[in-house]
Amino acid sequence: MKKVSIVTGGAKGIGAAIGYRLGKQGYAVVIADIDENAGKYRENHFRSEGIDSFFIKTDVSSEMDVSNMVERVYDRYGRIDVLVNNAGIGFSGKSIEEQTLHEWRRVIETNLTGVWLCSKYVVKYMKNTGGVIVNVASTRAFQSEPNTEPYSASKGGIIALTHSLAVSLSKYNIRVVSISPGWIDTSSWQVPPRKSYLSSLDHGQHLTKRVGKPEDVASLVAFLVSDDASWISGMNFTIDGGMTVKMIYID
Ligand code: NAD
Repeated sequence: MKKVSIVTGGAKGIGAAIGYRLGKQGYAVVIADIDENAGKYRENHFRSEGIDSFFIKTDVSSEMDVSNMVERVYDRYGRIDVLVNNAGIGFSGKSIEEQTLHEWRRVIETNLTGVWLCSKYVVKYMKNTGGVIVNVASTRAFQSEPNTEPYSASKGGIIALTHSLAVSLSKYNIRVVSISPGWIDTSSWQVPPRKSYLSSLDHGQHLTKRVGKPEDVASLVAFLVSDDASWISGMNFTIDGGMTVKMIYID
């Protein structure tokens, strides 16, 4: 029987690459994303490539949206094998004094509460078959630039949440892992001044001499959800072209 995956934030960027990769490996791919236009576009794109896919408009920070989305997936397919909690938003970069409580809550609720909510509702069905949950954190969980407090906190929280979920859900044969990408070239970074900063990173910080592509992250996720990774749970996997191990004063 065909395995079923849900990719939150699967309409664009890293999530779209993950969905495409899983789809090409035979999974049905549910795109759960807040962006209706991009989600429908991605559904059509996947279907044109022979992937069994459908889009469900979902705000991962809304309990009603998440609960309805999971019910619709189960009604349609009768199983849920993989959840990739990828949906996330960045932060504008205001100083701590300028940050508002509303902004803090919006980032935490999307990036962290969204992971908790989707995991909570999926377990009801995933525990029938076992499965894998992959949570997308970030190197920003352990390496910061100024003025990213809500984002960094949300991503650090994802790593700790992953530990707890992995321990709680092992009795259902559910593995839970997190991944921490470094600089990945997606539309979220294609705005000034990020765009020029990203280009300047190409030859400097990365041991691999390039920034990451969404497909690099998709390859890691494809491994982590596969049976080849059946002895892996609870851990965080950094995928950053070697950036975070390099001391900045070394050429
Ligand atoms: P992106 O903006 O290209 O895609 C994010 C997707 O999430 C979009 O399709 C968007 O519509 C969706 N989304 C946003 N809010 C949502 C919500 N409330 N509910 C459902 N969907 C929502 O971003 P990306 O660069 O592909 O990032 C994907 C994930 O990877 C994010 O969690 C991000 O924090 C993380 N990440 C990205 C990088 C990077 O360099 N691009 C690095 C580390 C971690």
